[in-house]
Amino acid sequence: MPDTLSENDEVQNYVDGAWHTPSSTDGQAVTDPGTGEELAYLPFSDEDDLDAAVAAGNAAFEDWRQTAVEKRIQPLFRLKQLLDEHIDELAALLVREHGKTRDEARGEIRRGIQNVEVACGIPKMMQAGTLSHAAPDIDESAVREPLGTFVAITPFNFPAMISLWFLPHAVATGNSFILKPSEQDPLVTQRIFELVDRAGFPDGVVQLVHGGPDTVNNILEHDGIEGVSFVGSTPIARHIYETAAANGKRVQAQGGAKNHIIVTESADIEYAAEKTVSSACACAGERCLSNDVVVVEEAVYDEFADALAEKTREQVVGYGLDDGVDIGAIISEDHLDTLHGYVESGVEEGAELLVDGREVTVDDYDGTFIGPTLFGEVSPEMTIAREEHFGPIMGLVSVADFDEAVDVVNQSEFGNAASLFTDSGHKADRFKHEVEAGNLGVNLGTAAPMAFFSFGGRKDSFFGDLHAQGQDMINFYTDKTSYIERWPNQE
Ligand code: NAD
Repeated sequence: MPDTLSENDEVQNYVDGAWHTPSSTDGQAVTDPGTGEELAYLPFSDEDDLDAAVAAGNAAFEDWRQTAVEKRIQPLFRLKQLLDEHIDELAALLVREHGKTRDEARGEIRRGIQNVEVACGIPKMMQAGTLSHAAPDIDESAVREPLGTFVAITPFNFPAMISLWFLPHAVATGNSFILKPSEQDPLVTQRIFELVDRAGFPDGVVQLVHGGPDTVNNILEHDGIEGVSFVGSTPIARHIYETAAANGKRVQAQGGAKNHIIVTESADIEYAAEKTVSSACACAGERCLSNDVVVVEEAVYDEFADALAEKTREQVVGYGLDDGVDIGAIISEDHLDTLHGYVESGVEEGAELLVDGREVTVDDYDGTFIGPTLFGEVSPEMTIAREEHFGPIMGLVSVADFDEAVDVVNQSEFGNAASLFTDSGHKADRFKHEVEAGNLGVNLGTAAPMAFFSFGGRKDSFFGDLHAQGQDMINFYTDKTSYIERWPNQE
């Protein structure tokens, strides 16, 4: 695979084992946010394109569901190997269409590959349990059955990893799967599907359908689709959850976030400051696990603010493919404008601007860059402390004690992640049980669960019950049948 695309390249759907140009007259350009260069054109899919994919998925399902599980995982072993072999070129392409740094892109793809590895263990994970003598002369067991064609609709910020949260588990359990990636950076998924094509899945089992909101709404109303996984912003997640459920589908919808770090007076201040910067600013803050509201016990507030400001100023902003860059480009001009608006709101609402990322410029690149930004004296009611801005903007909140810190965190309408820096086992224990968020970290900045643990938030960060990754995926993609046997002696 070449690691560059020409301007004339057009993104294609992968349906029934072949490449097709989507039919809608709507579409959009895919650009490199670090340079403004147009990389490709993405035509959207219309109802006929989706119908064709669903028909192929449901036709393939009839044989695939009955294919021996050990045989179903063989294409996943090949896909893992192909992804490993092509990780560098996939990462370079991801940098170009997204803006993150090369190391971040490699890390993202590695996290995706781990999900393929976990799904290769489906012969064990799919077992559902047996009990002898469940009742007099009766043995009882449960079997998991796949259900049909599932779709995943994914966001721009981790286009490779989030696609792979779903694809391997859906097909290993015996379902057919369609991916609808973000229209903002669809190229890395297109390349991953070139590898899917080589991995040897039967036609129709794994498919790619590009598009925007209209394509999504067609998915939600399509009778032939059994279930929908969604990852994206909260308003769209709520819409997906309500509409897919109203149309009789299984649905899991991960939404937006606003995450917190608590720093107690016993924390290692230098270490906590270093991890806070990387939590809030990695991937230019475009992460659902970014902890950007930093709640600090007042006894160490000044010391921590100084350490954090120093480490914030050390961050290098630049083009993601260049060496030594910590923070790459923001996904689009529109999103950059949104981030400038949030910085202005912080100033207008009275926070103290300690480091102003708007002053950062990147020589030689005409891209969408903003430097890391740090506010002090933030109150939990301010816009920058309440709303997800999805950029490298941090706010420091001073609290009297740990009780107040937990209150600040739990006031949020979101509940995706939180981290705690402390030397107190008792506070760590209280944090674990009292903080209302789905992914918690102690003495680490970003609580990103490994592929064999489930990943999901609470409150307005998640709609549904079964999360992404791990055993929840198996439960989402299968139904359990109970099988009850009695064999009286008739001899
Ligand atoms: P987004 O909601 O704009 O888009 C996500 C998907 O929804 C895309 O595929 C897009 O085509 C589709 N979509 C967009 N608008 C739509 C509409 N009006 N109707 C129907 N479909 C629509 O999200 P994004 O900007 O791509 O991604 C960033 C968001 O995703 C952030 O809020 C972030 O927190 C969230 N996110 C959450 C998690 C998590 O695990 N909770 C993980 C990653 C990202």
